[in-house]
Amino acid sequence: MTNPLFDGLLATGRTTPDKCFAILPDGREFTYADVEAVSARFANALVALGVEPGDRVAVQADKSIEALMLYLGTVRAGGVFLPLNTAYTPTEIDYFLNDAKPRVFVCDPAKRDGLAATAEGAGARLETLGVRAMDAGSLNAQADAASGEFATVARQPSDLAAILYTSGTTGRSKGAMLTQDNLLSNAEVLRDYWRFTAEDVLLHLLPIFHTHGLFVASNTAMIAGGTMIFLPKFDVEQVFKYLPRATAMMGVPTFYTRLLADERLNRERTAHMRLFTSGSAPLLAETHRAFEERTGQRILERYGMTETNMSTSNPYDGERRAGTVGFPLPGVELRIVDAETAKPLPDGEIGVIEVKGPNVFCGYWQMPEKTAAEFRADGFFITGDLGLIDPQGYVTIVGRGKDLIISGGFNIYPKEVELALDELPGVVESAVVGVPHPDFGEGVVGVVVARRALDEAELTGALAERLARFKQPKRIVFVDELPRNTMGKVQKNILRDRFADLLGGK
Ligand code: ATP
Ligand code: MG
Repeated sequence: MTNPLFDGLLATGRTTPDKCFAILPDGREFTYADVEAVSARFANALVALGVEPGDRVAVQADKSIEALMLYLGTVRAGGVFLPLNTAYTPTEIDYFLNDAKPRVFVCDPAKRDGLAATAEGAGARLETLGVRAMDAGSLNAQADAASGEFATVARQPSDLAAILYTSGTTGRSKGAMLTQDNLLSNAEVLRDYWRFTAEDVLLHLLPIFHTHGLFVASNTAMIAGGTMIFLPKFDVEQVFKYLPRATAMMGVPTFYTRLLADERLNRERTAHMRLFTSGSAPLLAETHRAFEERTGQRILERYGMTETNMSTSNPYDGERRAGTVGFPLPGVELRIVDAETAKPLPDGEIGVIEVKGPNVFCGYWQMPEKTAAEFRADGFFITGDLGLIDPQGYVTIVGRGKDLIISGGFNIYPKEVELALDELPGVVESAVVGVPHPDFGEGVVGVVVARRALDEAELTGALAERLARFKQPKRIVFVDELPRNTMGKVQKNILRDRFADLLGGK
């Protein structure tokens, strides 16, 4: 009887108990023996609080090694880990707790008073995760008192290990139910594909309430028996401080644009690094090229979702092609189908990306109809992303189906217009959305962040040479910055709302 995820993640680390698992910002080193003992303490504390196999343990806590151990402790106790974005307000938390009905809800001590009524209303027992100040009655105090040994609860590969809410970029977040095997199989694949070993030291800068930081980063380093430099958040100073000790870094595109803005980024400081990866949002080919020019390193871009874990990756040895997300990972089937007929499309044609494999989740929490609607009869999951596969097999993400603009009966892919806009002198970045138009249904609006004062008519004129008339923005507006969520994703729904009246539609 085993717990496939916990035993699998620790298979290598267990053979090297004294090895450093995490270097913490205060200089402490946390070993693999500490992983065993602290996760056992949390598992004991959770069981004492009444957590039974299958129970949800919800957490809204700042990033810390304790919060990560709570994830492992929950898995060991047979529970279902349910992390919540630290930016959520008590009103939002209220929604998630009532949706998830966790047995226990763990928050930071400072937030306890503000969340007490919310937790009680949802029937969850409220505990705090005091990281340094171990307040009385906290989960930490109970965990401290608990034994460092725990008989890990046996689970089946198909049992739930986590529920992760999607980022909410296109609407209300959905709880993706992830099994032990979904997480373990993806960790094994990423370890092998990206060549992670016990020698690796991963610069861990991502939040751990999201699939990227919690699973892609932490699970991959852990299953390889490697070390992480576990920092509370992305900070340019910290990156340069710790870079000399690292071998790999995982980031979202905004990390790379912020590093590029710092003159310290150069070949000497990065020559020892064996891997930089990017995901969660599109990496501009321009950023890819600029990073290579400055460092000689080609960023490896990959594609995934909360629902699918990682589905594709650029190759480790072969060509990492800018603007693409590489090939389907081993064990993952990926196809492009026509949005209306669901028929597979030939290479090079844009359609809906569908994915099947052990990486794909088992459904949305308490949304059976939505789950049924998002899966084909043959088991493929309809991602809602649009893309194409080129003749060499590289996958390109063209955008989200929900962002597709249909103007006067023509399909317009915002990314194509954004790429054209981004190439114009003085444009830093852009986002293109469709808003109501009296004649065409929807009309194209370009939202631009400019380096200097630019003239709308001039930009429109320059685009006329590059884009067919129906793709050209009817208006171009300037903003100081694009609205982004905590994962660096552009929130196009906010732009659509803000500029809804711009073309006189509705
Ligand atoms: P919601 O589903 O709640 O609207 P979300 O889709 O942003 O939010 P996530 O699961 O965090 O939530 O993000 C997955 C999405 O991120 C993918 O469907 C895709 O649109 C986008 N994405 C991830 N990696 C890449 C990438 N390398 N290039 C382009 N888009 C990417
Ligand atoms: Mg999504």
